[in-house]
Amino acid sequence: MGIFSINKKKYATLKIEKKKVEKKEEPKKVEPNITGSGLWVKCPGCNEIIYKKDIKKNEMRCPNCDNYFKMSGKQRIELLIDKDTFEEFDVDLSTRDPLKFPDYAEKIENAKIKTKLKEGVISGIGKMFGMEVSIAAMDFSFLGGSMGTVVGEKITRAIERGVERKIPVIVVATSGGARMHEGILSLMQMAKTSAALDRLREKGIPFISIPVDPTTGGVTASFAMLGDVIISEPKALIGFAGPRVIEQTIKQKLPEGFQLSEFVQECGMVDIIAKREDLKKTVHRVLDNLFGL
Ligand SMILES: [Zn+2]
Repeated sequence: MGIFSINKKKYATLKIEKKKVEKKEEPKKVEPNITGSGLWVKCPGCNEIIYKKDIKKNEMRCPNCDNYFKMSGKQRIELLIDKDTFEEFDVDLSTRDPLKFPDYAEKIENAKIKTKLKEGVISGIGKMFGMEVSIAAMDFSFLGGSMGTVVGEKITRAIERGVERKIPVIVVATSGGARMHEGILSLMQMAKTSAALDRLREKGIPFISIPVDPTTGGVTASFAMLGDVIISEPKALIGFAGPRVIEQTIKQKLPEGFQLSEFVQECGMVDIIAKREDLKKTVHRVLDNLFGL
């Protein structure tokens, strides 16, 4: 035993005085429970009761009004990659709870059971209309698609596979931001993924970023906005801080459609908005035409 006993927590806690918050009567946006056990779901687009299987068969779109439901990472791979060509990498990477953050280990276990995934991203190599690509697709259902050390590492490795094999890299991003349970280590993933993309750029290999609904926080502030071409879907929320936080900070009402893909495209943050059914051929056309692959 040394002279000092080091018993310091690896994270800081703040005492916050509770202020009375005026409650606003705002209609809550209810996320339809598409992954739950029921067979039917109420579509927020048309208010019709829809058979879940019909939504799944229709690339997670409402067959009645074309409203988009969230796709899992696996469904994104199926949407973009040729059948039976996908080889998954880094399947067993799982977080070690580096800060021993309260309740984090339990949250991870629950997320694993709920999603049948080990982490919030699926990555590997596959073919897109016969063209070999390195792809990573994030999964919002795993702790809100938050980026911790493992998500950052898997995305970095996907980019590095692109560098090694000289094949294009595609990342489908959807995220609530950096994973606060891993503190500064999760923020470091922003720099790590960005540095890997710089090595890809030096080799002249294309990177297509596909931020889908919702992509926010540290993921927006790093690799998701570093695509040579950035392609999104209609009405996808893309931003750094959410609209409510900005509204409360600047004390101003935000314009209609603020931070939706159509809005951010006008601001130059997104290059192309493609309908879900056109996403694969759009990505392929961009790679084919722009980079002459
Ligand atoms: Zn609908």
